[in-house]
Amino acid sequence: MAQIWYSRACEAGNVVAQQNRDQFAKTIEKRQQRMSQCSSNELEVVNAIEYFSSLCNPKNVPSVASDRSYIEDYKVLKEHANRGSITAKQLCDALEHFVQALNILLSFESLTKEQEDKFIHELSQCYRIEPIVAQIPCQMHKRVSEVIDRVLCRCTKESNSVPSQVDENVRLCYATLNMNSFELIDQFLTSCKQEYPKSIYFFLLSGAVNGFLRRSDVGLYNINNGLEIEPDNCELLYHKAVLLRHLAMNMNMDMDEAIKAYQTFLRVAPKDHRKVPEVYYEMAICYVQGYTPEVAAPWVKKLYTEGQQAEKLQLPCFLPYKSCNIAYLKPMFDMEFVRNTKSVSDNNRKQRLTDPHRVEVIQKHREWEGNTLQEKNNPSYTVISTTLKPRVKQQTAKSLIGLKPITLREIDPTKDQVYNGYVLSVTIIEEAYSWIPSIHLVIEDENFDCERMLIYNFPEEQGEYLISKLYTIGSKMHIINPYLRIGAGDMKPTVRVDDFSSIVMQSESEWILNMCRYCCEANASKVCSKCQQAHYCSKECQINDWKLYKHKLICKNE
Ligand SMILES: [Zn+2]
Ligand SMILES: [Zn+2]
Repeated sequence: MAQIWYSRACEAGNVVAQQNRDQFAKTIEKRQQRMSQCSSNELEVVNAIEYFSSLCNPKNVPSVASDRSYIEDYKVLKEHANRGSITAKQLCDALEHFVQALNILLSFESLTKEQEDKFIHELSQCYRIEPIVAQIPCQMHKRVSEVIDRVLCRCTKESNSVPSQVDENVRLCYATLNMNSFELIDQFLTSCKQEYPKSIYFFLLSGAVNGFLRRSDVGLYNINNGLEIEPDNCELLYHKAVLLRHLAMNMNMDMDEAIKAYQTFLRVAPKDHRKVPEVYYEMAICYVQGYTPEVAAPWVKKLYTEGQQAEKLQLPCFLPYKSCNIAYLKPMFDMEFVRNTKSVSDNNRKQRLTDPHRVEVIQKHREWEGNTLQEKNNPSYTVISTTLKPRVKQQTAKSLIGLKPITLREIDPTKDQVYNGYVLSVTIIEEAYSWIPSIHLVIEDENFDCERMLIYNFPEEQGEYLISKLYTIGSKMHIINPYLRIGAGDMKPTVRVDDFSSIVMQSESEWILNMCRYCCEANASKVCSKCQQAHYCSKECQINDWKLYKHKLICKNE
């Protein structure tokens, strides 16, 4: 048995290897084309980012927020930004300013006055947009401080306390870089706020510093001043909520105001803002600390779940999501979760058919399948599709022997990892269709959980055969080293197969023949009179399929 699997895997593997080589050649070519098309400015950023990636390996980049270097994420962030993520766009903008700043330092051994001002401008812009990306490599710390000190001195002498843009910029850099000296910076910021009463950043930093110093009321006063200038600023709104929570805790007051402030943040912030999951967890803690257990319990549960959901919308560079509060909340739910899982597996299949996730997966699949069918009949049909390169590469196991079985609910899509050494066994429950470069399926596992599945890198000339003969409704397969990831486009989990040879079909004798399109029972004898394709075991199943799963979308009379 293992021999057969092995030879099948090898066969498929060879085709894939050939394809990979072609793909590689194409990528190189494209890259060269892109380089020649790039404007010199863009090219500069790309080059600089590649250079700094090597310089900023996480080991020598100290950072409070993270132990990774955001520069390495630039390309992925850019793709998300191009797809409309405001958060990703801000991170990219900040990174571009940051890289420009470092570039100035690296290009010139000693800086002219203009170069110094430009450096300060770029660095302060980065701090204004998103300070966490400003991870200055260790070997450059000293020089950065020196330039900032020099410019600060110059401004103080020249200006005679006349406000100027350079002066404002350099103050911002100085304060941000020295945030750890709380008392000193608090005093420094007092003069900044007097000089630049319209700059929200000094108020924001004041709020943060006073928060660290446990002076929540002073912090709150500063944050509120900032909010008068810019009422919708996410960072200010977040700090306001945190400070209100600390204040309520210290004074033994109720948490209503803090919770309201968190809600305001959630209304204003983009869904993938890096603080969104944390805000849900912090709200849960408000309930834990501010209310009796009976009142708090359902809210805590709801907010915890919402936090988990929100984590799935985070950009890849913030995953796995780090939260200070989750460690506090999680133990309360692990027991609960075990109980839930058990009750679900006790459910029979019939109850699972109306599961909202299942309905959504099937409807979406049929919607796209319907569109694809229409497009293909269109004479000017062209295939347009782009995809991200796989983030994690699967390695095909030699056989199924020794692999541990796994089910969909045990795979965490937010972890973005291949489950090496595992095998996921599934049944195909919807018609397959292809939308180059992938084949789209809907699969169901032994718990009747279902999910979308995308197969990439299949031998293109076999596409039609795979769809119409092999990946048919009711056929069963093993997926070796399965990989469930959050789809880049719609943020929904998808089983993704990048290595075609990691699919091993189960023997045909185990396939379900004439599967009912609603309840998945075998040998459904009735057929939809219009499309002559869909099988049903009863009138009731047909009605349910029409109403719930929208059979209409794919019911075509051909
Ligand atoms: Zn049925
Ligand atoms: Zn039909």
